[in-house]
Amino acid sequence: MAHFDSVNPSVPGANDNASGVAAVLEAARICSRYTFAYTIRFLAVGAEEIGLVGSYHYAQDAKAKGRNIVVAVNGDMLGYPIVGDINRIYISAGSKCAAFMDSALVYNRRYNLNFLVDGQIGGLGGSDHESFIEAGYPAVDISEGTAFEIWNGMDPYYHSSFDTSDKLNADLLRHCAQMMLAITTEMARPLASLAGSR
Ligand SMILES: [Zn+2]
Repeated sequence: MAHFDSVNPSVPGANDNASGVAAVLEAARICSRYTFAYTIRFLAVGAEEIGLVGSYHYAQDAKAKGRNIVVAVNGDMLGYPIVGDINRIYISAGSKCAAFMDSALVYNRRYNLNFLVDGQIGGLGGSDHESFIEAGYPAVDISEGTAFEIWNGMDPYYHSSFDTSDKLNADLLRHCAQMMLAITTEMARPLASLAGSR
């Protein structure tokens, strides 16, 4: 999941949050070659910037329908190396989601990703994963940094007219996308590759 709105029309939103949407689209492209035991939904949600509105609606609707969501994996601002380290990715997880943080560390080794996985359980979120936590579902957020770092100016282009694609680091964006994909696909239980049939 990623939100596709930008904070206002003068902000291009390359990092916030075309970076997250790009990760979702690429994950969908890759996952189309495989079958999974569980359903994976690739979401682009609207109106995050005015209060997580799209994700709130989706999560509340899922709750009302009794949908079983194993985990919601959100990506928001994946491309600016906020501490200067393109290998450092930040994961924020709900207070009941410590297992997903542990899993991220396992996948980091299993797939030889070798990222510096930084994170916090039950920490500040400020993005669409919170809507799912509020609805009672496990959720994690992948980002270039903590909400505190972003809100306090460590990403100088945040919510500015300079949030353009030339500011993004492709490696960092890929790393964040890989971790989103690893968590999602591991939880969905891959069954078989369809690559040979295409
Ligand atoms: Zn955002």
